[in-house]
Amino acid sequence: MALKGTDIVKRLPGRKGCRECGFPTCFAFAMKLAMGGTAVDKCPYLSEELKAELEEALAPPIKLVTIGSGDNAMQIGNEEVVYRHEKTFVHEPGIALLISDKGSEEKVDEKIRKIQELQFEWVGLTLRANLLALQFESGDISKYEALVEKVYENTDCGLVLISEDMDALFSARDICADRRPLLYPITSENIERAIPRIKEFVAPIAVKGQSIEELVPLTSKLKDEGIEELVLDPGSTNLLEAIRDQTFIRRSALKQEFRPLGYPTISFPCFIAKDGLKEFLAAAAFIVKYAGIIVLSDFDRYSLLPLLVHRLNIYTDPRMPMSVEEKLYEIGEPNEEAPVLLTSNWALTYFLVSSDIEGSKVPSWLCVKDSEGLGVLTAWAAGKFSGDAIGPFIKKCGVEARVKHRRLIIPGKVARIKGELEEALPDWEIIVGPRDCAEIPKFLPEFAKSMKA
Ligand code: SF4
Repeated sequence: MALKGTDIVKRLPGRKGCRECGFPTCFAFAMKLAMGGTAVDKCPYLSEELKAELEEALAPPIKLVTIGSGDNAMQIGNEEVVYRHEKTFVHEPGIALLISDKGSEEKVDEKIRKIQELQFEWVGLTLRANLLALQFESGDISKYEALVEKVYENTDCGLVLISEDMDALFSARDICADRRPLLYPITSENIERAIPRIKEFVAPIAVKGQSIEELVPLTSKLKDEGIEELVLDPGSTNLLEAIRDQTFIRRSALKQEFRPLGYPTISFPCFIAKDGLKEFLAAAAFIVKYAGIIVLSDFDRYSLLPLLVHRLNIYTDPRMPMSVEEKLYEIGEPNEEAPVLLTSNWALTYFLVSSDIEGSKVPSWLCVKDSEGLGVLTAWAAGKFSGDAIGPFIKKCGVEARVKHRRLIIPGKVARIKGELEEALPDWEIIVGPRDCAEIPKFLPEFAKSMKA
């Protein structure tokens, strides 16, 4: 944010220190406001003019836009950096699957099935495509409405409505208005007619220009009309142009603070790539180069999963190790005789250990201790994987109620915490497991056999 707390405090009228804003001083209020931690209207002594001025100056350089509603609402924009290593990218781009109303019933059903079924469990997260983009191509508005109705009734994902025909666009919008669909495209040709219809419902709008320059008067006009949840399409016709345009828009918004381009973008690998492989390569490039929504003509599990993992990698905060929740995990269908293992909550550690337990074919309980996203040995060295910390966790994670025995397998790399754990958990026998989790598939069946004996 360009405005600092010290700049704001100078403009607060009177500096009464009356605390009506909930802060002890005007200075404290100003500092919090500059960090985005409070709102300008909390101070009742600001004129409307000053409020508007401060809101404008404090607005994020790239507007936050919400598409969809409820649990499946997704947000794009609000990015603060050009390069991920400067801080982090914040809102991952939505991946949309294109469905044309010209397609056969079977094709439509197949795509609806794909968006619902292609979900992947990955390091404790569920990865999936987020949006369906419904395109009016048939020329028959009733056919388009039927498609929108079908998708609206059978899926819960966010929608992008694509139609050059304004009647078709807005009648489709009326069917699914409560889902906050993204309406595309608003152009210099249709903007005058579209504005009154746009104002009927609060929904995000995608603005299309033949060039970046053409976008500027369109977004300015919509903003003047109070329509601010905008998404930009600079009309790029090939990948080279598209990367250039995406980069120009991001840099203008962040480096020049040029408000008319301070919105997330939409990109169409489905239209600019000539074959499936190039389409996915373009989509991968758009994930890195700033697209807010990426529309694909089709996908299957083999093309979608790498793209989702790529998106996860780029939109993971590089300052924070990836972690999973501290809790007791069931691997397979463990019973009260099943082995109990312990590990740390670095996502990669969890993923490897749980995969190796699965590979052993011995259903087990896995106690995952919060180690602030560190691997076992690093966590131990940092004092976050000690017997003192693990003992209370084992007691409260619920494993004692799930098993009849009291045997806990600890990672071999931290064999030295055995003594501490025996003190912290006097009812438990502490067993030192393999140093490398790759040995679990060999270790666990033998251990399970010895338990039975
Ligand atoms: S309400 Fe306004 S004038 Fe009163 S302390 Fe807060 S910022 Fe200052």
